[in-house]
Amino acid sequence: MRKLELHWQILIGMLLGIVFGFVMTQVDWGKGFVSDWIQPLGTIFVTLLKLIAIPLIIASLVKGISDLKDISKFRNIGLRTIMIYVATTVVAITIGLVLVNIAQPGEGISEETIVKLTEAYANDKGVTDKLEEASKQKNSGPLQFLVDMVPENALAALSNNTLMLQVIFFTIFLGISMLLIGEEKAKPLKDFFDALNDVVLKMVDLIMLTAPYAVFALLAGVVVSSSDPDLLLALLKYAGVVVLGLFLMIIFYTIVVGVFTKKNPFWFLKEISPAQLLAFSTSSSAATLPVTMERVEEHIGVDKEVSSFVLPVGATINMDGTSLYQGVAAVFISQALGFDLTFGDQLTIVLTALLASIGSAAVPGAGMVMLVIVLESIGFPADKLAIGLALIFAVDRPLDMCRTVINVTGDATVSMVVAKSVGKLGEPNIKEWDDHLDEIQPKK
Ligand code: ASP
Repeated sequence: MRKLELHWQILIGMLLGIVFGFVMTQVDWGKGFVSDWIQPLGTIFVTLLKLIAIPLIIASLVKGISDLKDISKFRNIGLRTIMIYVATTVVAITIGLVLVNIAQPGEGISEETIVKLTEAYANDKGVTDKLEEASKQKNSGPLQFLVDMVPENALAALSNNTLMLQVIFFTIFLGISMLLIGEEKAKPLKDFFDALNDVVLKMVDLIMLTAPYAVFALLAGVVVSSSDPDLLLALLKYAGVVVLGLFLMIIFYTIVVGVFTKKNPFWFLKEISPAQLLAFSTSSSAATLPVTMERVEEHIGVDKEVSSFVLPVGATINMDGTSLYQGVAAVFISQALGFDLTFGDQLTIVLTALLASIGSAAVPGAGMVMLVIVLESIGFPADKLAIGLALIFAVDRPLDMCRTVINVTGDATVSMVVAKSVGKLGEPNIKEWDDHLDEIQPKK
């Protein structure tokens, strides 16, 4: 029998997880059962992906750089990547702002709903934690992000998943220095990283064997811990605007892929879909990164010289879905609380949402922290921030899942465009987990 393709397996796992989650909310012991016995399986899966993220970034980036025959190419790739990332993010924010201004979802929210949401969430730990984190982030100077990019201790950086940009900085430094000592001298190190790269990609294949079960556990967990359905309903219009915006981004990416890379956009979506489904299930582009890299390199044919740089950088700084959401949420909150926005304020939102998405961590809920900074930039009263966040908190998790899909798809799209522009978009070269299994099995 032909094996069901991976994205179908994952999709079935997700659907069964949602159904199971709903069934469990109907019985008294259901919630506890899911969080004690089901959810941990999903957590282990996410942890495994995080476990291999740093070794994969290092091995693949060193390999990518040391394969470069011409170092000026790297500058080319770097500049193009950053420029295209900024451009796609501006498109995303603009789409969000146009939609929210047309649909005006904040106008229809009744006073009663605002009171209800405020009571439910303004003092919720989720909201207060986000406000606290935002205040920590904003007390830094304009060049702080550059300072933060340079690690003072390479090993400390390598041992911390939140320091992805430091790891990238150190690895590029290492790779370029390897090129400069000459091929012969660098060979042992290069061989080591080449082998490490193959091994870690194999780990991705092995972890992905469990993906359909893991997404079942993750989604069942999300369903049992989601908010009161009445509150979700009240926010339907706002959530609808965000989701519509995100959907338009998918259309935008397919056009970009078709026009700039001449590849079939539907083929692209099919090949990247396992990464999208994981982004949806985990709400974290960082956790999805190993799978995104594997799909883009092996299934789409982007050369490692490009993907090894573009994707890890993208996971940290390119968040089109997050910035679109920040634009919509900022305007929605202002509308609902009667805070008038001028055209200038909306332009400020474009700029700060761009910077905020660069600064958002690639983990669940990070976009909401930076939303606080967007709101502050337009002079939103500080004493109303908690109420503002309370208004959107109930639907934040489902929207986070959707925007993470866009964040990951955006990174993959840009990697294809950059690869095409420097002649590095080749043919897929798919490796299965059991390619060499025969060699280690007892001979019959
Ligand atoms: N969860 C998102 C990501 O990992 C970030 C966010 O929008 O909260 O890409």
